[in-house]
Amino acid sequence: MDFDVIIIGGSYAGLSAALTLGRATRNVLVIDAGKLCNRQTPHSHNFLTHDGHKPADISKAAKAEVLEYPTVRFLEGKAISAIQIDGGFNVGIENGENFTARKILLAQV
Ligand SMILES: Cc1cc2nc3c(=O)[nH]c(=O)nc-3n(C[C@H](O)[C@H](O)[C@H](O)COP(=O)(O)OP(=O)(O)OC[C@H]3O[C@@H](n4cnc5c(N)ncnc54)[C@H](O)[C@@H]3O)c2cc1C
Repeated sequence: MDFDVIIIGGSYAGLSAALTLGRATRNVLVIDAGKLCNRQTPHSHNFLTHDGHKPADISKAAKAEVLEYPTVRFLEGKAISAIQIDGGFNVGIENGENFTARKILLAQV
C-alpha cells in the first residue's frame, strides 16, 4: 500500500484528521479539490482564537501546521473513484494518478 490512510477533502475536517494521524506517524495522503464551502465568506466567527479572521488565512495556517508532520502529503486534485481492493482501497484522481491505502477517510461536503 502507498499510504496508511487517504483523506479525501483537505479543508478543516480533513486537515484535523491528518494532524491526528500525522502525530501518530501514519503515512497519510490528503487529496483536496480546493473548493472550501466557506470560501466566499469574508470573515469567520465563533471560532476561539480566530474570531474575525479570513477563512483563507485560517486554512493556509492549518495546512502549514499539518505539513510540519513529515508523514503527511497534500495533493491538490479531485478524487473521482475509490475502489475496494484486497487489504484496502485504490483511489483515482482526476489527473489519472492512482494511490492505494489501507483506509480511506471521506472529509468532503
Ligand atoms: C457561507 C458560510 C459561512 C460560514 N461561516 C462560519 C463561521 O463564521 N464560523 C464557523 O465556525 N463556521 C462557519 N461556516 C461553516 C464552516 O465553513 C464549515 O463547518 C466548514 O468549512 C466545514 O469544513 P469541512 O472540512 O467539513 O468542509 P469544507 O470546508 O467544505 O471542505 C471540503 C473540502 O473537500 C474538498 N472535496 C470535495 N470533494 C472532493 C473530492 N472528490 N476530491 C478531493 N477533494 C474534495 C472540497 O474541495 C473542499 O476543499 C460557514 C459556512 C459557510 C458556507
